[in-house]
Amino acid sequence: PDLLLKVSGVSVTIPTGQGTVHAVDDATFSINKHEIFSLIGESGSGKSILGQAIMRLLPPNAVFSGKVELDGTEISALSEKEMQKVRGKTVASIAQNPYLAMNPGIRVGTQIAEPMQAHLGMSKEDSKARTFRALKYFDIVPPEVREREYPFQYSGGMLQRAMVAMGTAADPELIIADEPTKGIDVLKKRNIAAIFHKVASDGCAFLLITHDVGFARAMSDRIAVNYCGQIIEIAGKDVFFKEPLHPYSQALLDAVPERGMHPIPGLSPSMIEVPEGCRFHPRCPYKMDRCLKNPPVVDMNGRCVRCWMYA
Ligand code: SF4
Ligand code: MG
Repeated sequence: PDLLLKVSGVSVTIPTGQGTVHAVDDATFSINKHEIFSLIGESGSGKSILGQAIMRLLPPNAVFSGKVELDGTEISALSEKEMQKVRGKTVASIAQNPYLAMNPGIRVGTQIAEPMQAHLGMSKEDSKARTFRALKYFDIVPPEVREREYPFQYSGGMLQRAMVAMGTAADPELIIADEPTKGIDVLKKRNIAAIFHKVASDGCAFLLITHDVGFARAMSDRIAVNYCGQIIEIAGKDVFFKEPLHPYSQALLDAVPERGMHPIPGLSPSMIEVPEGCRFHPRCPYKMDRCLKNPPVVDMNGRCVRCWMYA
């Protein structure tokens, strides 16, 4: 398969008045062209920060280390000016809330056309023609009317589709969508899933960042599980849901409604005082003495798991 994104040993710490937040620790994974890859885990476990690190949109005081390569370019080493050309063009992000992502005072058509002019250097006429096509593609019709309307004139579902149209306007190769289903009802969720599948089938890869296990299951080719700033398992979707390896993955799946909604015992650890050794050890039913040391990432026939049980 064709490699698109390669994330190697990425760590992010953020100094705060309360201490240093270990938001991302040693993240290593890759995404192939056309692949839908989901990063799942509880809210506040550092998933969003990892997405921001890839986009180079971290808070200014964050400390980054590691390497991010996109389509053969080491984007983590680019200047901010060079990165601006990559953002929106090769990699785009879709915000979780269309009501915040769209400027209420600017016509929707103008907001979709803008990234094409900025990132692809398209003329006004060309970008307008392409905006029409994008509106039709996302079933926002008739385009000549919708193009001139303002966000408040759109229905919620239409606004969501317009937001995806905006994110994909410059034909990116990778879309990073952070919590695309947060706070939306089942119907709109299906709407989003259908739009993403459509965009993916046209060749775009996705990094979905979500706490919504059901959505990840419906969407993904592969799943990565994040716990307390670390990726603790990566596996193909089918094997993952059939047989999760990491004790946290097992607990996470038992917590979904289809499996009885058993809550994970114990509290989510603080991202400031992270547990020593395996970060899951205070809650793990299989804890052993060696779990107080950092577990290795074990390769299991293409899956990988960060746990002493498999070492
Ligand atoms: Fe449990 Fe030990 Fe594996 Fe951590 S390393 S998940 S404590 S068995
Ligand atoms: Mg988040």
